[in-house]
Amino acid sequence: MKTDQELNSLALQTRRGWNEDGYSPIDIFGIVNGWKERNITILRYPLSDRISGMCTKVDEDIVICINSKTSYGRQRFTLAHELYHVLYENIVGQVICNKNMGDNQTDSEKEADKFASYLLLPYDALYQYAANINQEWTLERVIEAEQFFQISHMAMLFRLASNGFIDENEEESFKDITVSRVAALLGYGKELYQPSPQNREYFATGEYIRKIEELSSKDLISDGKREELLLDGYRADIVYNLEEEEGNLND
Ligand SMILES: [Zn+2]
Repeated sequence: MKTDQELNSLALQTRRGWNEDGYSPIDIFGIVNGWKERNITILRYPLSDRISGMCTKVDEDIVICINSKTSYGRQRFTLAHELYHVLYENIVGQVICNKNMGDNQTDSEKEADKFASYLLLPYDALYQYAANINQEWTLERVIEAEQFFQISHMAMLFRLASNGFIDENEEESFKDITVSRVAALLGYGKELYQPSPQNREYFATGEYIRKIEELSSKDLISDGKREELLLDGYRADIVYNLEEEEGNLND
């Protein structure tokens, strides 16, 4: 199994490839959707409760499926987790990933979880953040940090415990709350702790959409085929031009 240092280093290497430094929060969905050097399609889909996501890689074509019933923070973590499988492992067929984190997982799953954590929140970033606040890790501090780095509550606690910032008792007591409510009382929005809205429960983005548009613009597929393929990717919003209805503003 790879060490934490190796996984942190891989995470930093990945960030460098995106021109991202090792300290700032990243918009991982925005980055991966626009990452043209890799053919990655992201599919948000309501999977079973015990699954966080899955991925497949056929030649250079990668599909990452994210459980849209999990919180936005967890979806960000899952995307980072799946990236580990597709970028740094030789996967065969499909990889299906369990929502649970912790010791009773395979080495591959543990590595992917740690990589995800370091990608969203590199080791030095957390270390500096902790040094700057220089206080006990209270629940309030934990929520501040997860809001700053946009990482789910469970992933944040798992990370703080595994890097020795909090002990097991603290981890348990910080778990046992309704985090969106506590965050709201601290003045934050609840989005990080909520699942995709209903009109985004089924939703494909990234390479799949780009490829359809490319084929269509070169007249390699008919308009009907284009619409059919877009609908297969749950993108009725593109086919039926719903942007105005959905309240698009260019401001
Ligand atoms: Zn996995």
